[in-house]
Amino acid sequence: MRRILYLLSAVIFVTIISGYVMNSNVLADEKKAAEKTTAKDLVCGMDVDKDKALKADHDGKAYYFCSKHCEEAFKKDPSKYLKK
Ligand SMILES: [Zn+2]
Repeated sequence: MRRILYLLSAVIFVTIISGYVMNSNVLADEKKAAEKTTAKDLVCGMDVDKDKALKADHDGKAYYFCSKHCEEAFKKDPSKYLKK
């Protein structure tokens, strides 16, 4: 009977530890992914999510904007924002 209790607590311990390790891996992956998918909105200077942001191509490079307003301001005069 004691042996079963010992085994049970060992199983619970391993489950908790592996759950913790897996969680921290997921968090690290999410952080990495977040770094990859953000870009700077050159007009207002904020970081935008590439998946949600508006995209404009200029000289073969992609630029991302938080809103139509920023996109249009950039398209009007790209050199103004690229100098910075
Ligand atoms: Zn913006």
